[in-house]
Amino acid sequence: MSLGAWLRDRPVWLERAYRATSALFVRLHPLIRRLGYVRSERLILPVEELGKRILFDCRMCGQCILHSTGMTCPMTCPKNLRNGPCGGVRANGHCEVLPEMRCVWVEAFERSLRMETYGREIILIQPPVDRRLEGSSAWINMLTGSDRHPPPGWISASAVLVRDHADL
Ligand code: SF4
Repeated sequence: MSLGAWLRDRPVWLERAYRATSALFVRLHPLIRRLGYVRSERLILPVEELGKRILFDCRMCGQCILHSTGMTCPMTCPKNLRNGPCGGVRANGHCEVLPEMRCVWVEAFERSLRMETYGREIILIQPPVDRRLEGSSAWINMLTGSDRHPPPGWISASAVLVRDHADL
């Protein structure tokens, strides 16, 4: 088992690290704005990509909702589903497309029950993914708000993060 998979089965630690990192980014926002988002992204992107790839098998969608999905990347679902499983989950909890793999959403739900802060966000309905943000930094997109242009009425998971840290 990889380090990332081992940690994902202990989501509280990842959740705490995620919360601390998002708080840090919100604190650093004035500095990042002064530096410029484009220049800052050049520095942040390689670190974000490497870290998230190791920990979450991240696909760099640019709109991170990990904390709302049991610290399990929804983009690792072969169908890229961001709102729960499809109708094809096998009786043993495995994927319809890749029978040797457990369903990403079965794992996400199980892990969300073991989280201490964001576990209940698994019930949030996520807006459609914006493919234009693929390959960009989700942290920078959270700060600029470019990951929050969903259709009217949708709640963005990163909007919840920003709201939670508004008093910092
Ligand atoms: S939700 Fe997007 S940014 Fe977050 S880990 Fe998955 S692919 Fe990466």
